[in-house]
Amino acid sequence: MAEYLSDIEIAQQARMLPITEVAAKAGLAEEQLECYGRHKAKVDIHSLKDLPQKGKLVLVTAINPTPAGEGKTTTSVGLADALCGMGKNALLCLREPSLGPVFGIKGGAAGGGHAQVVPMEDINLHFTGDFHAIGAANNLCAAMLDNHIKQGNSLGIDPRRIVWKRCVDMNDRQLRNIVDGLGGIANGVPREDGFDITVASEVMAAFCMASDLMDLRDRLGRMVIAYTYDRQPVTVADIHAQGAMAALLKDAIKPNLVQTLEGNPAFVHGGPFANIAHGCNSVEATTTAMRLADYVVTEAGFGADLGAEKFLDIKCRATGLVPSAVVLVATVRALKYNGGVAKDALTEENLEALEAGMPNLLRHVSNIKGVWGLPVVVAINAFPTDTPAELALVEQRCNELGVNVALSEVWAKGGEGGRALAEEVLRLCDEPSDFRFAYELDEPLAKKVEDIATRVYHADGVDFAPKAARMLRQLEEQGFGGLPVCMAKNQYSFSDDPKRLGAPEGFRITVRDLSVSAGAGFVVALTGDIMTMPGLPRVPAAEKIDVTPDGRITGLF
Ligand code: ADP
Ligand code: MG
Repeated sequence: MAEYLSDIEIAQQARMLPITEVAAKAGLAEEQLECYGRHKAKVDIHSLKDLPQKGKLVLVTAINPTPAGEGKTTTSVGLADALCGMGKNALLCLREPSLGPVFGIKGGAAGGGHAQVVPMEDINLHFTGDFHAIGAANNLCAAMLDNHIKQGNSLGIDPRRIVWKRCVDMNDRQLRNIVDGLGGIANGVPREDGFDITVASEVMAAFCMASDLMDLRDRLGRMVIAYTYDRQPVTVADIHAQGAMAALLKDAIKPNLVQTLEGNPAFVHGGPFANIAHGCNSVEATTTAMRLADYVVTEAGFGADLGAEKFLDIKCRATGLVPSAVVLVATVRALKYNGGVAKDALTEENLEALEAGMPNLLRHVSNIKGVWGLPVVVAINAFPTDTPAELALVEQRCNELGVNVALSEVWAKGGEGGRALAEEVLRLCDEPSDFRFAYELDEPLAKKVEDIATRVYHADGVDFAPKAARMLRQLEEQGFGGLPVCMAKNQYSFSDDPKRLGAPEGFRITVRDLSVSAGAGFVVALTGDIMTMPGLPRVPAAEKIDVTPDGRITGLF
């Protein structure tokens, strides 16, 4: 196999345009920018609020992935470049990478190969400081909460029922469960505590759902952080923290503008986890892009059962956004993985396993069309290790079954490699669609979970563990029954068992527990073991990352 340049080598060879030039392509004037150096800017959205949202929204999602990711970000970048290359006015909306995966297993999240957003080192590391600001706001709330208890606890907060955690943007399993407040009377009130990774925090989710700074302030105020001794919810507003938290986020909330390798504009803003939260970039960035561009390409985390479901049923419902087309990214390796091949044998040709994995793809296609009523095209994200026979087989099966399909070679060729996909997307954007949700908001919470489980996952039904059943009653009583449901589930399987790959049948979903994210605006239903503070692997990606004396970063991928 030929040697390929790494993502960072390609990114560092790019000749970036000044960000003001990129902004001009997006229809933004210099006065609307706050520049962070020459290649990054925050966008002042106030002057744009009155423009109509004229764009056509294209959602990029995927089949159930392997642990390495299947190229949704890469495909999104390449598709936006392809559309721009065809003379269309397109804008890309991505999430900001978290330092957890950057230093852990997966690596960065700025795309790959010749389909990346740049400056990739900045985007993958501190960028414009948004995640640090979100962590600071989160931790201010934690400090004020514990201080309230220390100063006499007039609200009667039960220290054993604090649901707020401190956070840090790092995979640090050592902090998952801790005891703090030790050291005697002057040093706080001892209690069991723990950290989440910043991207799993509710501040991140609320940040990404907020329509503007004042809406964010209101959402922060609504967040439930603890319960009293008589089990009444305590909110951020009860400890008067929402104003200062919003103050810390006043710049972070402005969308970040960067460019693709081909000099096209991209918003990279916000980044909630797709397991515990809703997994897409900020509402502010998406709606701003819809005002500026004719086509807006955006990505939702993990497979379509998780990311697309939440994008459509939570974000689109809350904002009125309606996608015009959906791109379902499939890779030969993920199809083989779904067909039962072990992780370390995915690069060998295996047509039987590929065929055996196809039901996973077909179920996602029929969900997108049947459950949500949206037109869909499968993008086969071509890897250098794919054999011609494998690529041909996927295309042939899709054609036989009447599934729209396009080979995407954006990783190897940039926008030029995304032409066929872009043409298909443009065609779908002009087709009539009949967008609807997988469940209705006025149903009881249990019924919403059941609708998602049976209609989207194809489960036979849902079992609520005793704790979950209790929480269902409590949340309905406390007035949270009208919220949408954010499923917390593993990303590998339609079921709650990560080992049941493909298109499993004859299973039930077990909901262990529920919690309310009143600021983000959803009720989280927890299935299986959901990680809100990941750990590092045996050999973290961080071991390969370095910096030269002149400040050039190496080894990031
Ligand atoms: P996702 O957004 O679905 O998690 P990414 O776009 O971040 O996936 O891609 C995951 C990783 O796979 C990245 O390191 C990227 O460089 C690599 N990758 C994506 N597409 C290809 C491809 N076609 N060939 C080789 N590597 C790829
Ligand atoms: Mg991604």
